[in-house]
Amino acid sequence: MKFEIITLFPELIEVYANNGIIGRAVENKLFSIEYVNLRDYSQDKHKKVDDYPYGGGPGMLLRPEPMFRALDSIKRHNSYIIYLSPKGNLFNQTKAKELSHKEHIIFIPGHYEGIDQRIIDKYVHEEISVGDYVLTSGELPALVIIDAVGRLLPGVLGSGESALEESHSDNLLEYPQYTRPEKYMGMEVPEILLSGHHKNIEEWRRYKAIEITLKRRPDMVKDESIIEEFKKLEQKFNK
Ligand code: SAM
Repeated sequence: MKFEIITLFPELIEVYANNGIIGRAVENKLFSIEYVNLRDYSQDKHKKVDDYPYGGGPGMLLRPEPMFRALDSIKRHNSYIIYLSPKGNLFNQTKAKELSHKEHIIFIPGHYEGIDQRIIDKYVHEEISVGDYVLTSGELPALVIIDAVGRLLPGVLGSGESALEESHSDNLLEYPQYTRPEKYMGMEVPEILLSGHHKNIEEWRRYKAIEITLKRRPDMVKDESIIEEFKKLEQKFNK
């Protein structure tokens, strides 16, 4: 899998591609994060890549010619081209899983007021938003997607770091977790976690996961059977 970004800020990408779990995965060649600098594709003597919007209005837009040239030079038959946009499909774990099966993802981060629509019409397979808020540019959203997709790729998470039991993995938010010490500032780790009874622990975690999901994200619980299961678990653990 190769992630490739057409950026005005290569330094931002490099910092992320060289650190943490993602940096380790890149070093181990589990996937690659590459970028091209959009300015290198500008034929303007000042390397300008933006201009005023036709019809007026505030701000600037990325012009089509440098982006067309950049895309023509890096896209392949199997490239999936994403434009990061607050108008796009909302990114989530299901989308991350779907993208983890692509071979080459090209990200187009917008800047200023965005990009010329003709870039989207000619090249973009999907517009993706990372949330209902507006950022100054698309580099962070691209890195968010690379992080969420990258960690799903085989071998990226070590044996101690599982993607299977965390929030959103089975349409539930994650149960609360505790580590040492057993007692701290008068607060104790729930007794059941110290019991060594694996089946009970598993059920308690499931109970807590459903509880927090119903409280914070009831929209995620679409299946009535989850509510039935919760009632049963509640009887067992909340006597
Ligand atoms: N004028 C645009 C609009 O109203 O939809 C917003 C432009 S925003 C200031 C600049 C760039 O940041 C966008 O082109 C996009 O690439 C990126 N961006 C901002 N918010 C985003 C979000 N929530 N998700 C994905 N990309 C975002």
